[in-house]
Amino acid sequence: MHELSIAMSIAELVLGEAEKAKAVKVKEIEIEIGDWSGVDHEALLFSLTAVLKSEAVLKDTIANVIRRKPIMHCNSCRTDFTPPNMYTIKCENCGADTIELKQGKELSLLSLIIED
Ligand SMILES: [Zn+2]
Repeated sequence: MHELSIAMSIAELVLGEAEKAKAVKVKEIEIEIGDWSGVDHEALLFSLTAVLKSEAVLKDTIANVIRRKPIMHCNSCRTDFTPPNMYTIKCENCGADTIELKQGKELSLLSLIIED
């Protein structure tokens, strides 16, 4: 399962950070997931909860998942807009095809709160 391997790498990353900080426990972690990242945020949260529980340092960690909606930016008229679907190739405002995805593909660990 795709989400399980992602959950495991997130846990590994958090463990590494906790070790560096000599933390006894990690209270909370914050992860951002774009709606277009290809990751199912509910499946990831489910896998993550299971993975965290298997590590002593992480067993009480609260995982907060922040979803990022897709936002496109037009380089011609500098408008930001929410694309109706992934196949959007033209700006909603001026019709130019000089658009790029500004937000929506995130998959990263934003922060962690530790207890030392
Ligand atoms: Zn435009």
